[in-house]
Amino acid sequence: MPPEATLTETSLADRLRRLIASGGPIPVSVYMAEANAAYYGYRDPLGRDFITAPEISQMFGELVGLWIADLWSRAGAPSIRYVELGPGRGTLAADALRAMRAASLAPEVHFVETSRTLRAAQAQRVPTATWHDRFADIPGDEPLIVVANEFFDALPIRQFVRGRSAWHERLVRIEGDSFVPAAGPAVPAGAIPASLGDAIEGSILEIAPTSAAVAGDVADAIAVRGGAALVFDYGHVRTGFGDTLQAMAANRYADPWAAPGEQDLTAHVDFQALGEAAGASGVRLFGPTTQGAWLGELGIDVRTEALSRAAPDRAPEIASARDRLVSPRQMGSLFKAMAFVAEGWPHPAGF
Ligand code: SAH
Repeated sequence: MPPEATLTETSLADRLRRLIASGGPIPVSVYMAEANAAYYGYRDPLGRDFITAPEISQMFGELVGLWIADLWSRAGAPSIRYVELGPGRGTLAADALRAMRAASLAPEVHFVETSRTLRAAQAQRVPTATWHDRFADIPGDEPLIVVANEFFDALPIRQFVRGRSAWHERLVRIEGDSFVPAAGPAVPAGAIPASLGDAIEGSILEIAPTSAAVAGDVADAIAVRGGAALVFDYGHVRTGFGDTLQAMAANRYADPWAAPGEQDLTAHVDFQALGEAAGASGVRLFGPTTQGAWLGELGIDVRTEALSRAAPDRAPEIASARDRLVSPRQMGSLFKAMAFVAEGWPHPAGF
């Protein structure tokens, strides 16, 4: 483990303990936001703590590139910008841009990334990119094609616990040296959508206000400028109850309340809520469909065969990567694909 990681863990956990000692328990969203800012700020976790679809196979990014080139060409080949939210190592973008170039599309590239470490990794793969801290900072008025893979799951969630007669925000307090979640004061009726009001005692409801705000910003921009967004993440199709906060370290599940800043904290994406946040801007919604079905529609089997023919000695490895992405027992079903498309733009492939 790099020395700066240890330093970060110590200082973040201590800082959170002091924050709670002086101001009282903090919302889960504050804990998660602080932990992930520290976690992503100083390391490249991909491959070490978790692995993502574009890191499993070049086919993922290539098919995203193909999806973009197809949509763009049917939209009349306008000048567009490629935007990616949380591009990780830049692998998805590099593979997608290569596939786009083969279709004579070479868009300007804008990355939304807060991690300095990952910005450096992205610059190696896509040196021509321009970086931004926030989506809202992207300039110009050209149509945008926005891609986000495993981005929304890293954004902070609030959790609410159902008590006997009211909902309570879940807060993080300190017991001894440990971080422990506990129900805080009751929240006003109306803070929770009425349709979800009558849950059994002990139910947990998650709300992702940052995700909704970003989805709204993206949809607003697309509605005005034209274009589309393509979102992949693991999550559920309908809003429901349950605690989905989880931590990953060294490719294993870990205790989310241990070692803040040292492990990746994520929550399942609520695609119904994401769609409602985007749909309010007047874009058209497609999906969610499963990642497996989407990749199948885009032709992953044809691509698997072509790559295997070109490198027969790698055929077993290529086939197993395809299975990881598509099989319902692996990423194929839990992961979903969803698109937001501007009025007047064509129906996107795969939905
Ligand atoms: N899309 C990549 C990486 C997924 S990990 C892949 O599929 O491999 C999550 C990514 O989102 C990382 O690049 C992380 O640094 C970035 N990220 C997390 N929180 C962010 C925030 N609030 N704003 C911008 N980027 C963020």
